[in-house]
Parts: sequence; C-alpha cells; structure tokens
Amino acid sequence: LPARQKEKISDADMVSTEASDEILIDIKDLHKSYGKTPVLKGLNLRVKKGQIVALLGPSGSGKSTLLRCINGLDQYDGGSITIGGDLIGKTLAGTFLLEKEAARQRIKNKIGMVFQNFNLFQHINAIENVAMPLIWTYGETTPAAYQHAFGLLKRVGLENRYGALPGQMSGGQQQRVAIARTLATRPQLLLLDEPTSALDPELVGEVLEIIRDLAQVDGLTMIISTHQIRFAEQVADYCVFLDGGVVVEEGAAKVVINQPQNPRTQRFLSLME
Ligand code: ADP
Ligand code: MG
Repeated sequence: LPARQKEKISDADMVSTEASDEILIDIKDLHKSYGKTPVLKGLNLRVKKGQIVALLGPSGSGKSTLLRCINGLDQYDGGSITIGGDLIGKTLAGTFLLEKEAARQRIKNKIGMVFQNFNLFQHINAIENVAMPLIWTYGETTPAAYQHAFGLLKRVGLENRYGALPGQMSGGQQQRVAIARTLATRPQLLLLDEPTSALDPELVGEVLEIIRDLAQVDGLTMIISTHQIRFAEQVADYCVFLDGGVVVEEGAAKVVINQPQNPRTQRFLSLME
C-alpha cells in the first residue's frame, strides 16, 4: 500500500467543514461526444458553494471537457448543468445558447477559468493582459483597470514584472499572470484545468502556493483538475475521481485520496506515488 493509505484519518476529515449547504453547481446525467466518440457518459456531480474540489482522473477521462462544459465553452449533448439555478450552455428546449449568450451567462455567474497553457495574449505585457478584460468586458476606465491590475499582479508576487511580455516570463510567472487576470473579474467560481501540468517541476510550487491562498478566500468555490495528489489532499475538501466520462468515486478529499474504495481509483492513486 502507498504510505499515505496508512495515515490515520480523523473524524474531522470525514466531513467537509468549509462549504455551506447551498448547492452551487448541479450536474445531472451529462452527456457529451466529440463526433461519434462519447466522452462524458452520464456524469452526475454536485458542488456546494465554497467547496474546494479536486478533480482527479487519468488522461482522457474527461476532466477538461467537464470544466469546459461548466464554463459554457463547450456545448453538451444531454443532461443539464445548472449554476446557482441558471441552466448553463443549453436551453430548456434542448437547443444551445448562442456563444454570446453563453458568455453573458458566464459573466453573470462569475465563472473564471485558468488553463493548462495559460492562454495569455502574447503580444501585450503582463499588466495589459490583466487590465484588458477589465476595460473590454467590465467597462472599467483605463486608469482604474491598470491600478486594479497592478494590485492583482502584486497579489501573485509579480508587481516587478508588470511590463514583461509573456515570452519574457517563466511558465510559472505566466500562469500567475493568468490567475491574476482571472481574479480581476472577481469570480465566485474558479475552474483550474491542470494549472501546473505545463510547468517545469521547479516552477510548480510557486503556482500551487497562489492557489493555496485562493482556496482560503471566503465563499470562493473552486474546481481544480490536477495530478498533484499531495496538493489536492492538503487544499481540497472534496475530491472527485473521474474515469471513462463518469464519476467513479467522490467524497471528502482526505478519505478518497487515502482510502480509495473503487479499484480504478486505487490503481490510479498507486501509480501517482
Ligand atoms: P482529460 O482532461 O481528463 O485528459 P479530455 O476531456 O481532454 O480529458 O478528453 C477526453 C476525451 O475526449 C479524450 O479521449 C480526448 O481525446 C477527447 N477530446 C477532447 N477534446 C476533443 C476535441 N476537441 N475533439 C475531439 N476529441 C476530443
Ligand atoms: Mg485535460
């Protein structure tokens, strides 16, 4: 058995203490195919407001697809996703919302997303990357947006790099800028899709540190897909294990990670050591 399975689990770990009882995300029987290939196959998941959820699972299990559906970036074929009671990505009649409408919903619902490959604009510098969405989407004046953006760069420890282009920064710094950019919109729900998997190992820590801080923000709900099991165990209060496009195991993070019940979860975690 991996060493962590021998660790004692206290009663306090058995319940999620941070989250309220209010269901923020309710996903029912979610189906999604790419062409003829089914990817999500009847996935059910509920996330409470304030919960920090670690999304684990092998490559190809559907983690990115799920996060993209929640964010309205991808359309789905069947089932439903509601966030704060609003149906996301699909109308009740089964026809998809227009992209513009999805974007409006996303903003209304205050969802932020952090991508594996940062997705920064390459031709503008760090502070512009953070300030632009504030000007374009949120209608802040230019001076206010830059002031706001500078404060956010400070928060991720990059106030000295505000003038740097993405290409002049390390991957860890770029991801920290991307996080600052997402925070600028004051999301209530933050989706992070393998935020450290494109980073050299020595740069992972600085990004995890920022995410660890964010997890403390009152009321912020987070879903993080990650292969950093130790990090997930420390930071998440709920853990969801995805395999083959469905949730095969879920529960308090320390329990799922240390005492997985499903053989597929057990095998995956034993390979992660
Ligand atoms: P994960 O993030 O868990 O690695 P993904 O959600 O990226 O999994 O992918 C799930 C499956 O969907 C994989 O088999 C992948 O090849 C397929 N897939 C993902 N995106 C696309 C796409 N845009 N077109 C076709 N197939 C895709
Ligand atoms: Mg992925």
